Amino acid sequence: MNPIYDFNGQVALVTGASAGIGLAAAQAFAKAGASVVLADINEALLQSEARKLVAAGYRVKAITCDVADETQVAKMVEDTVATYGRLDMAFNNAGIAGHSGALTAETAESFDRLNAINLRGVWACMKHELALMERQGSGAIVNCSSLGGLVGQADRAAYHATKHGVIGLTKSAGVEYASRGIRVNAVCPGVIDAPMFTDLLERSPEAMEGVKRDQPIERLGQPDEIAAAVLWLCSSAASFVVASVLPVDGGFTAH
Ligand code: NAP
Repeated sequence: MNPIYDFNGQVALVTGASAGIGLAAAQAFAKAGASVVLADINEALLQSEARKLVAAGYRVKAITCDVADETQVAKMVEDTVATYGRLDMAFNNAGIAGHSGALTAETAESFDRLNAINLRGVWACMKHELALMERQGSGAIVNCSSLGGLVGQADRAAYHATKHGVIGLTKSAGVEYASRGIRVNAVCPGVIDAPMFTDLLERSPEAMEGVKRDQPIERLGQPDEIAAAVLWLCSSAASFVVASVLPVDGGFTAH
């Protein structure tokens, strides 16, 4: 998709890579020449998407992983190294939408599961990726936050809390590891035409029209448009970009 990137000889890991933004990023890394590990909890979809990339001639490996389970995350990173020998770029993207509705109607179990995936999952991925990248002396990590990491929204408190947390993790890890040759940044997608969001709104065409009207750009974003930002953040073109938080949201958080 973007001919200026040449990731030949580099290894990329993408979580939540079976669908939506993660799949678009995995495809883009592969097309830019990287060897790519696609990791996801949805094994059937993961295997099917990985098979398509292999059939198209790309170097990819599928690893089933629930990012809420640190043991599985550690194994995912170990298997990446066992397969490709190193890890240069990681997009910690796996996330779920969680509870939509009044804060008072959410259960503690629902909050804890959301947090375990969206926030602790990013922490666990970074923990094991950074340990490896530190031994290598190089690496680039992009964490997936959201417009929900930058603003509040009624009926979405827990999700927005996890995505604010991802920004805190990113800034702190970015500062901690910058002098060790590792850049950590976050991307904040706006409303994207991907299953997580379209599933939420599929029963409400009026709500979908309202969401489109709320975007200064007057349309939803495409997964490719987030992938483009992720690849840039991982590339040498972003060599001085550290601990930054990049909104890719059609202008949503600017108004
Ligand atoms: P998506 O289409 O639902 O894809 C997410 C993928 O992650 C799915 O394959 C999902 O599997 C997988 N996944 C869920 N829980 C997991 C876990 N515990 N471990 C590993 N993989 C898991 O989502 P998306 O819209 O592309 O969103 C990707 C990221 O962007 C998320 O972090 C989301 O919060 C963020 N984001 C999305 C939007 C948007 O408008 N779509 C906006 C801002 C931020 P299942 O299908 O089995 O659940």
